[in-house]
Amino acid sequence: MSDLSQLSITTLKGVGAALAEKLKKVGIETLQDMLFHLPLRYQDRTRIVPIAALRPGQDAVIEGSVAVTDVSMGRRRSLVVRLQDSTGSIVLRFFHFSTAQKNGFAKGTKVRCYGEVRPGASGLEIYHPEYRTEQQDTGPLEQTLTAIYPLTEGLTQQRMRLLASQTLEHLTPRNLPDWMPSALAEKYHLGPLNEAIRYLHQPPQDANLAELAEGQHWAQKRLAFEELLTHQLSLQRLREQMREQLAPQLAPSTYLVNQFLENLGFSPTNAQKRVGAEIAWDLAQSLPMLRLVQGDVGAGKTVVAAIAALQALEAGYQVALMAPTEILAEQHFINFSKWLAPLNIEVAWLAGKLKGKARAAALEQIANGTPMVVGTHALFQAEVQFKNLALAIIDEQHRFGVQQRLALRQKGVEGRLSPHQLIMTATPIPRTLAMSAYADLDTSVLDELPPGRTPVNTVVLADSKRPDIIERVRLACAEGRQAYWVCTLIEESEELTCQAAQTTFEELQLALVGLSVGLIHGRMKPAEKAQVMESFKAGELQLLVATTVIEVGVDVPNASLMVIENPERLGLAQLHQLRGRVGRGSAASHCVLLYHPPLSHIGRERLAIMRETNDGFIIAERDLELRGPGEMLGTRQTGLLQFKVADLMRDAALLPNVREAAIELMRSYPDHASPLLDRWLRYGQEYGQV
Ligand code: ADP
Ligand code: MG
Repeated sequence: MSDLSQLSITTLKGVGAALAEKLKKVGIETLQDMLFHLPLRYQDRTRIVPIAALRPGQDAVIEGSVAVTDVSMGRRRSLVVRLQDSTGSIVLRFFHFSTAQKNGFAKGTKVRCYGEVRPGASGLEIYHPEYRTEQQDTGPLEQTLTAIYPLTEGLTQQRMRLLASQTLEHLTPRNLPDWMPSALAEKYHLGPLNEAIRYLHQPPQDANLAELAEGQHWAQKRLAFEELLTHQLSLQRLREQMREQLAPQLAPSTYLVNQFLENLGFSPTNAQKRVGAEIAWDLAQSLPMLRLVQGDVGAGKTVVAAIAALQALEAGYQVALMAPTEILAEQHFINFSKWLAPLNIEVAWLAGKLKGKARAAALEQIANGTPMVVGTHALFQAEVQFKNLALAIIDEQHRFGVQQRLALRQKGVEGRLSPHQLIMTATPIPRTLAMSAYADLDTSVLDELPPGRTPVNTVVLADSKRPDIIERVRLACAEGRQAYWVCTLIEESEELTCQAAQTTFEELQLALVGLSVGLIHGRMKPAEKAQVMESFKAGELQLLVATTVIEVGVDVPNASLMVIENPERLGLAQLHQLRGRVGRGSAASHCVLLYHPPLSHIGRERLAIMRETNDGFIIAERDLELRGPGEMLGTRQTGLLQFKVADLMRDAALLPNVREAAIELMRSYPDHASPLLDRWLRYGQEYGQV
């Protein structure tokens, strides 16, 4: 048997080209990929729970016989089946049902079903449970916990489970080598890799579900530790390699910066001046700058970026500014064009959607040395050649990985000089984590907002208040304001999230007749998205229903109301980012967090923080403190740094050991570093090349 990282997923029975294509969308190309495609959570279908023991919010298998079946006419017509066992009874409710389905629930019929228990008007209910009746043969109960995997269109949970179990048959310690040196494994109490993987795909019946849900199981920690360790190794390497590079030394700007500030219309805050000076000093060195500027939403990072850019421009070099989305990049393009035109500096634009002649022209401009280039990550592509790039500015750091930063380096002056890198992020990160997350970067903090901002007023309400809030949207729009209605992510798939946004959009259109309502989500084509954004900016749309795609950079000063549904699903940092989309104009702004009860104690406290403060750094610190057991929300939701298994917030306690282990590994087992990097980093090979 050979290495599972070399075996294509198509070696499994039943996996043809079409299925392989779908699996590729979730990052699965090899058997090893499948093993590292871990479940998001688990369901316990191994035992039947007595009805009397059910609690709201619980997912459970129950079994009973039909006591009454009825069609209820309430607000929405529904089929109501009361199911009883020897301990009590519960209502199964179906909003969509067929006559045959209804007839299947004759009085006395035995039914086994699975679903989420929720409080109803008269006792507990389950909406649309999965079920089988005795006629359909209920079959045996599951032997292991049921894994729920991240999916994409055309894949089902059943299929993923089957693929996982087929792959596990191939798993041996030999074909999935454990690169954790045994001395380190012992010292840090890390179990064997193989066992950890096996356990996480198929946890036994007696597994501790709560522990797994919290990411506290040894198998999860084992993998998280290895992943974080690998991340540390990659940062160490990056730093070392950077120290060997040379960058163009840029003399401080004496002319352009002053011109720019004169035209700007406001004076920089003290924080902007201080950070600007730190950057100016870095740029004058022959070592490439690697600096991260952290600044809360609205702190004015763009001005800082412009000041840095002018230093390189005045020295006669090119500057590239990259943003993670087209919307954001375009906004920068507009700003920089406006700022640089009076200084007679040309600005070029490059994005993925630019095609054909326009694209060729942009590429030529860049190659010929147009001084300022703004765009999306299209700027990273190999075909983009700069004439003399001296500074790369990356906005919203968390969307750009280490690999992309490396790719940038190859775009430096004649391949000899590395460009300086300035990275800007609005995701505040607690100091305790910053060391680990950004070990390779120097950091500056913009800790002051420009004067004259009115803080956003935030309220936290249960979603039973939805009709009132819809009314509030109507009123705000009647007064000429604009509003956002944000649908949060559904863990399993982006597709479901977009569907939810679509449904909400249709519903709000019906409820708000006379308002022009728009929709934007991640599944729309970039051109469609841009068009919707344009209409919203132009005020043609009054209400914008959106997924969290609007999180970064959107700037519509007239929007003064934001409603966020199910805010409990998001990390506080992300909520903070979203909320930063309002409060940009002079009008008093409001943010409504519309949660779905019941909220856990910690959930309640977290949302209360959002109500109490508008300071991103305080929010981040409190968020970390509150992440005790019981909270599964993590970095993935904050958008901070994307790991496969690890979660910087959740696993913060591992970090001191991880750092220590990284140093030990480099000292005593340096040859283990490359295989670890290969395994954990999508483009691990690049580390060898730079
Ligand atoms: P962010 O840090 O979120 O990227 P921006 O750079 O987009 O913030 O700035 C937000 C707004 O504040 C912009 O409209 C910008 O022109 C304005 N701004 C930036 N700096 C100042 C300042 N010193 N005084 C007044 N307004 C400023
Ligand atoms: Mg910005």
